[in-house]
Amino acid sequence: MNNYIKVVQAEKTNSKFKKTNSFSCHSNGYIQFEGNKRISFINEEAMELLKLDACPLQGQHIFSIFHFELTSIIETHIDSVIKESRFEQFDFMFSELPVQWLRFMIFPSLAGEYTLMILDITEEYIKKERISETQEINSIINETAMKLNKTEQPKELLDSLFHRLSSSLDLDFYFNYLWNKKDEKLHLMNYYGISETAADRMRVLAKGEAVCGFVASKLTPEVVEHVDKLDDRRVDLLKSFGIKAYACEPLISYGKLVGTLSFGSKKRASFTQEELDLIHTISQQVTLVLNKIRIVEEMTHNTNSLQKANIHLMQNEQKLRDIFEGAQVGIIILDNEGNIEDTNPAACSILGITEEECRSLKVEKFVSDSNQTPLEEHWSNLLSLGKTHSDEYMINRPDNTERIISFTASKDIYQGHHLIIFHDITLQKSIEQSLINEKNVAEKSNRTKTNFMAMISHELRTPLNSIIGFAQILYDDKKDPLTAKQEYRLGKILYSSKHLLQLINNILELVRIDSKPDMADDNNKTVNVKDAIHDCMQLVKNNALDKKIMILVEENLEDVTILVDPIRFQQVVVNLLANAIKYNKVEGSVSLYWRVTGHYLALFVKDTGIGIPKELQEKIFEPFYRIFHADFNIEGTGIGLTLVKQNVLEMKGTVGVCSREHEGSTFWVKIPI
Ligand code: ADP
Repeated sequence: MNNYIKVVQAEKTNSKFKKTNSFSCHSNGYIQFEGNKRISFINEEAMELLKLDACPLQGQHIFSIFHFELTSIIETHIDSVIKESRFEQFDFMFSELPVQWLRFMIFPSLAGEYTLMILDITEEYIKKERISETQEINSIINETAMKLNKTEQPKELLDSLFHRLSSSLDLDFYFNYLWNKKDEKLHLMNYYGISETAADRMRVLAKGEAVCGFVASKLTPEVVEHVDKLDDRRVDLLKSFGIKAYACEPLISYGKLVGTLSFGSKKRASFTQEELDLIHTISQQVTLVLNKIRIVEEMTHNTNSLQKANIHLMQNEQKLRDIFEGAQVGIIILDNEGNIEDTNPAACSILGITEEECRSLKVEKFVSDSNQTPLEEHWSNLLSLGKTHSDEYMINRPDNTERIISFTASKDIYQGHHLIIFHDITLQKSIEQSLINEKNVAEKSNRTKTNFMAMISHELRTPLNSIIGFAQILYDDKKDPLTAKQEYRLGKILYSSKHLLQLINNILELVRIDSKPDMADDNNKTVNVKDAIHDCMQLVKNNALDKKIMILVEENLEDVTILVDPIRFQQVVVNLLANAIKYNKVEGSVSLYWRVTGHYLALFVKDTGIGIPKELQEKIFEPFYRIFHADFNIEGTGIGLTLVKQNVLEMKGTVGVCSREHEGSTFWVKIPI
């Protein structure tokens, strides 16, 4: 209350008294004095009001009963009443503690005497002061509201608000915390009255910590008075700043905590209810403004994000445009009626027309009648299925030249707009066609060659068989024995004839595989690998014996059956075994083994022979390819491995070799079981 009065005093420093026109009497003091200013009468109430001793005062000079300050004021009034015979009145704060306001009224009375009436108007004055105080508060609130509405900087707003309040409420500090949803803590945003270092000590508060944290957890205002006399850890911080009175308000918006706003004073130990109400009202206004600022900030942020997104969008659009313009394929955008809305340069060049000419033309303008699928069918497919395509489509250009394109079309790439992507395959088509023609010619000539070879081989085999037959009869004739020389020469004829027959047989076999590739599976049977291998070994047994070569079959091999043409399989194994013997050293060895992996049988034929140079290992499978060996004279036709490869391929398998020169070779065959 004291401070509250001080506020009023401060406003009225130069007017502790005021002229008033109306009054109401509570306890009237009454003093009668003469023209010489000597008291002729004084009543008890006057003595009480002026706090005078009961000693006789009649005859005393009237100024002697007032203290100095009052005397100097009253003197002027008394003088003017005496001189001008008029009514004078003024109010005076007679005492500060407790407050007492007196009203003095001076006027001429009977027979040259004068009257001084004294009224105690303290109550009335306090009422008035209250009214003016309320007006002051209202003006602060209004001013704040106006300022708040204009402010967009919370710091600026709170600082000016604080300065306005501090002069009226004797405030020295304010702290504004904002609630951070992420870490669930109060963060000091704005403050006044403390140093940066001091602020560092209280930048972040948890709920319940210090007075602000306590207010944030309770969501109700808190007033701490006579802080210096309190023994509570929550006010330690306030004490350290010398704060004596402290009021903290929660800032609540739509039922949610936004932050806290608190004010502190070093000069006073408590607040009046009116002051607290003022702080409360202001805090509510601050909440509104902080909210407004937050919304504006969010909107600005959103606008900025939108702007950024817009720029990004524009960049992307430019990128797409660049791709559209630079694409090597033709791109056309059509509307629902089939009108061309947009084209890229590649599309124009394929259609043989400029971009401007293209626009608004219907796509059907370019379509040739020679297409198997009419445009209408593609169009209805596009509209019903969402896409359509054609591997080849003939278009008619305005200069009457035709081009072949392949296209895909997608419906509604954006509202009512369809996309056609196409490329010119005219050149590719003509190359394809000439390749087909060349292939047909090649196939025809190959067939002729195959037929010729089959015919020749067949024609050669009949006389050759009779040559071998008769030569053999001559050779074996015991009745008419040949001379040693004749026998030697006939032996040569027989050997060469048999070699020639083998060559012809191989050629016929090659021709047979070549001419009927699709019949590969027709003769498939279930073959037991062990049995088949045994049969093959019988066929090459004599060759091995001649060179004293051991044929070894690995022990404990898996007993497996395969579905193959048994003759093909035998031919493959026999050819590999025959080579392993033929290209082996005398007294060498041939090993045979197999493995089953997944759905395949892998068969290995390993020899200890002359080996094959790395660079020739691919070539030996080519028809008639033979490696020339200066040290050995090994005869052959160069078709054995070609037959192996052809047969294995027919069995949908693969064949290969691993070999080291002078050490030996391992041929392998992998065929599906
Ligand atoms: P040919 O044996 O009738 O000459 P092939 O087609 O069977 O024809 O073989 C082609 C060539 O591959 C042979 O000339 C030979 O040089 C080489 N060759 C084949 N098998 C072996 C092997 N086991 N060891 C070393 N060389 C081989």
